[in-house]
Amino acid sequence: MSGTIHLRGVRLMGHVGVPAEERARPQELIADVELDIDIRRAAASDDVGDTVDYALVRDALHAVAARRSYALIETLAEAMAQEILRCFPVAGVRLLVRKPQALAHLGVEWPGVEIVRTRKAGRGMTDVYLALGSNVGDPRANLRAALAALGRECEVEAVSSLWRTEPVGYLDQSWFLNAAARVKTERRPAEMLAFLQGIEAAMGRERTIPNGPRTIDLDILLWSGGTIAEDGLRVPHPRLHERLFVLEPLAEIAADVVVPGLGRTVAELRAAASGAMRIEWAGAAPW
Ligand code: ADP
Ligand code: MG
Repeated sequence: MSGTIHLRGVRLMGHVGVPAEERARPQELIADVELDIDIRRAAASDDVGDTVDYALVRDALHAVAARRSYALIETLAEAMAQEILRCFPVAGVRLLVRKPQALAHLGVEWPGVEIVRTRKAGRGMTDVYLALGSNVGDPRANLRAALAALGRECEVEAVSSLWRTEPVGYLDQSWFLNAAARVKTERRPAEMLAFLQGIEAAMGRERTIPNGPRTIDLDILLWSGGTIAEDGLRVPHPRLHERLFVLEPLAEIAADVVVPGLGRTVAELRAAASGAMRIEWAGAAPW
């Protein structure tokens, strides 16, 4: 992130304390806030719409403090951090909430709680296994270009070797080059499929003959140990277990992963798949 916005000493009133008597009366709370935000756009436009309106951040903190009583500052701080992530386009927030009056009689200047919350941790990343295939033009270059496109928006964590494979179904076409990859994404499944289809389209894929020649084919094989049945999307991929050109590369990077619905590991499915289809190792992925 290329910037931090600070709001120091934000004074609020709230009902916070473990003893009921303390919670019954409002007391002063002081919040120090740091917001992780890319300020480059606002710096260029000089427009408050491109950054965070500081007064609105103060109002959001006030609303959380006034909403209810809290036994713990921990609970209040967590609620404030989540509200900030919900309302403002920040990547993360660091928040220190103090109760200056709470222990003054014991000679304690202030007790307080500091937390750091980031949007990524909140949304969660999912491990997804993908199949890549190409048999038009320069398949090796096509797989490399598709992986580069994936890498611009996902974390590409593992890539299998390349495998030269005999076409299945429609036989009057060149052999394919296939690979499998594991990526991490914040996308939901339908968004991921749309993203993959966008890469296919950008690389000039045309859907003419079923199982026919293609510049690039990107399929979702496995989605974080779960099953998906949506319009136009089935995961695990319904033909995964019968396709040696998928299982062979996938077994290199996911041998011990159990395929949901089939209850068997990728390695077991690979061993059981028919050997009729010809497949040749075509080298380590050159990236
Ligand atoms: P295939 O990959 O089976 O050779 P296509 O790439 O043309 O054929 O995909 C056909 C359709 O399969 C797509 O329009 C897509 O909606 C659907 N589909 C269903 N499940 C999946 C999946 N897991 N991954 C990719 N596409 C899928
Ligand atoms: Mg496909």
